[in-house]
Amino acid sequence: MHYDCDILIAGGGLAGGCLALALQATGWRVAVVEAVTDEQRRTSPAGDRALALAYGTVRVLDRLGVWNGVAQQAAPIEQIHISDRGHFGKTRLSARQEGVEALGYVITARVIETHVAEALSASSVEYLCPTRIIGLKSGSEGVCISLKSGDDSLNKTARLVVGADGGNSSVRRLLEIKQKTRDYGQTAIVTLVKPQHDPAHTAYERFTASGPLAFLPTSDGCCSVIWTQVSDEAEALMALPDSAFLERLQDAFGYRLGRLSLCAPRRGFPLTLVQAEQMIAERAALIGNAVHQLHPVAGQGFNLGLRDVAQLAELLIRADAEGEDPGSNRLLNRYDEARRRDHQAVIGFTDQVVRIFSNRLLPLSAARNAGLMALDHLPWLKHTLARHAMGMGGRVPRVGRMLRSVR
Ligand SMILES: Cc1cc2nc3c(=O)[nH]c(=O)nc-3n(C[C@H](O)[C@H](O)[C@H](O)COP(=O)(O)OP(=O)(O)OC[C@H]3O[C@@H](n4cnc5c(N)ncnc54)[C@H](O)[C@@H]3O)c2cc1C
Repeated sequence: MHYDCDILIAGGGLAGGCLALALQATGWRVAVVEAVTDEQRRTSPAGDRALALAYGTVRVLDRLGVWNGVAQQAAPIEQIHISDRGHFGKTRLSARQEGVEALGYVITARVIETHVAEALSASSVEYLCPTRIIGLKSGSEGVCISLKSGDDSLNKTARLVVGADGGNSSVRRLLEIKQKTRDYGQTAIVTLVKPQHDPAHTAYERFTASGPLAFLPTSDGCCSVIWTQVSDEAEALMALPDSAFLERLQDAFGYRLGRLSLCAPRRGFPLTLVQAEQMIAERAALIGNAVHQLHPVAGQGFNLGLRDVAQLAELLIRADAEGEDPGSNRLLNRYDEARRRDHQAVIGFTDQVVRIFSNRLLPLSAARNAGLMALDHLPWLKHTLARHAMGMGGRVPRVGRMLRSVR
């Protein structure tokens, strides 16, 4: 069979773009197909969302050569302050106690996406953009992929297709992989505020009766706000004038950073858990949100997705060195096995956090308050939580371990 490329990646977002960059130094001929133009990406409101990147994620981005280009626009998280509104329970995780420079970093999605797209355009990777994957037929010999670019249709053949096309993945649908979906009935309201006092590299996670509220410190002394609310309440908050919204936000967060002023429009992201029932099929693998679209409460989506990237990259780099077929069942099964436990752990953890911390029932609210108080007095448990927050709780694939220094 003739192959136009060895590996075709559908989706040049965070996961797909990073995988292509990880493979550029190999002998594999890689093509990336991305539906959205660079200009559309630069101006999309969704790009405003702030990502809390775990320490482990930053190490992988550094290894991929991405971090250097974006580090100046990232803010370190030196402490995480977790509290429950209206209760005494609180705890604080600290980078110093963990012996690291930062527990993680905050950066807007747009900064990384733009940098990755630019790096892709300048690389040896074939970058087809704007082009959309619309059809797929995989067999034991290879995969035939149908693409649409404006009015033009084209076909490509590859040894392996990787679905990195997000929560609404066409690849997942075309492979007829079933998905589990849970609508949380919640919306994340995202905005930016300038507090009166410098957040001093502290991230705040505050659990309120109506949902969790996160303040993430940005590089310019502001805080990126992610406020999760039941969808009806979110709609009402979105409809308020700025001053009334700010009053509600101030009331929920309190005055530990003094008065807040609003410095960006509000955006609403409806929250649904989407989980593919399989992450591999014949000559096909899924990575990132195409496998798991999570609630952002624990800030784990991209952190988890980048570990998919690192794992698949590690296997493909080894296959290149050993002359193995990149779409072999053996390789794909190893990818599936290596990723399953991490997926289950993070999805389960995120789901529990949503259930416990979005709940107004008194016993649960008392339990989480007691849990936060207990946590504050159990250094080993705090250390475990901090390791998870840093993305260091499980095995880090080789792409993440063979590292240059961060920053
Ligand atoms: C409010 C909010 C806050 C978040 N906060 C955090 C956080 O703090 N930390 C964290 O780790 N994660 C966070 N996340 C999650 C994070 O944004 C995602 O996990 C991440 O963007 C997923 O990247 P991806 O590349 O898998 O998918 P996407 O970013 O969805 O990229 C998919 C790409 O595929 C392209 N595409 C789609 N269909 C096709 C097609 N048919 N053909 C070709 N291309 C196609 C799209 O244009 C897109 O570029 C947050 C998410 C939200 C909504």
